[in-house]
Order: sequence, then C-alpha cells, then structure tokens
Amino acid sequence: MRVLLVEDEPEMASALRDALAGSGMVLDHATSLADAELITAPGLHDVLILDRQLSDGEGLSLIPKLRAQGNLVPVLVLTARGELTDRVEGLEQGADDYLTKPFAFEELVARLRALKRRPATMQRDIVTIGRLSYDHFNHEARVGDNAIELTRRELLVLEALLRRLGRMVPRSSLMEAVFAIDDEVQPNALDTQVSRLRRKLADADSGVIVNGVRGVGYLLREEP
Ligand code: CA
Repeated sequence: MRVLLVEDEPEMASALRDALAGSGMVLDHATSLADAELITAPGLHDVLILDRQLSDGEGLSLIPKLRAQGNLVPVLVLTARGELTDRVEGLEQGADDYLTKPFAFEELVARLRALKRRPATMQRDIVTIGRLSYDHFNHEARVGDNAIELTRRELLVLEALLRRLGRMVPRSSLMEAVFAIDDEVQPNALDTQVSRLRRKLADADSGVIVNGVRGVGYLLREEP
C-alpha cells in the first residue's frame, strides 16, 4: 500500500514515516501543495494524507484539482483544526475521512486501510477529454478550476456523447437521452441543444468539439 503524505511539519512527517513503515506501507512525502501535485498521479497512491495548513495554501484546495485530473485517490485530512465546522467543511470539499491531531497511530493506520478497501463504486466517475473533465457523480463539467454552467438538457446531451466518446451517436439515441416520451419536441430541438452545448464548450476553451452529420447524429472528440 502506497501513501502520499502532504505535511509541512518535519517532526510530524518523520513520526508518520516511522509509524507507517512499521505497518508495511510505502510513504511518499510532499511538503507543499505544489509538491503534492508533482508527485502524485492517477492510480499511483492508494491513499493521500492531507494536512490543511500548508505553506502554499489550504490543503483542501488540492482535492478538486486532483479530481479534475482524474485522480480518485481517497483523501484523509489530518489536522489540528478539529471543530465541527472544520470537519464538515473538509468532508463537503471532498475529503473521504478526517482525523484530528493529536491522534493514535493505530487509528490512523486502521483508517488508511479502510479507505483503501472502499469499493470503486463509492468513488467518483470522472472522464477527462481535452481540457474538459466531467464528473458523472456530481453532473459537473469543468475546465481547470472553472465549472461550465450547463442546463439540464445540455448536460444530458454531453453525458450521452461522453458515453460513446469519439463515436457517432445516432439522433434517435440522443433524443431518447434528452427528451421524455411525452415532451412536445420541435424537429430541430436536439440541434438547438447541441449548438448551445457546442458554444459553451468553445467559450470555456475546453479543447473539445462536437461534430455533426446532418440527419445522422453527433460525436464528441478532442479538438485536433
Ligand atoms: Ca501544517
């Protein structure tokens, strides 16, 4: 089991290194948020231990950045800030678990193991194409730190296209995905939704385009 520790206090880092090595874990250590982003990559670490007060910012800000890069590593936030509001804030910003200092190493090790065992269905399903990342769990499209505001129907079009990335999706499938059977639908309603989505993807500089073949369907792909 490989763990990334993001912690700027040397004594805490070295105590953790000893404790985790004794439990058969491999520990990589980053002393800042910038360091952590350089060191980790999707699939590399089984769990990330994250301090909140770091020299280059609030630890929690790392979580959405990692998720946008398709990195689903479970995050345990370790901090001296143990007030209820801090814990709630941490969990709401995407932390998977929260442990306050001081803590027992046995409990930390047990929690890390529990996070690693967590089934993949609990994790988010994030697709990245070009500069666009799409979170199927939260129905959220982002380019870097910026969320793209999409209407419910534009989201449905995007999801249907993402499910068959790079392949032509027939009009009939898109119609089924976007409109209810009893919706009153104008003949060009689908094309209207697609053009709006296309414009928003372009305005957000997503690096993703929607190609269409008249009367046949649409496909989503990375900008050449
Ligand atoms: Ca700190």
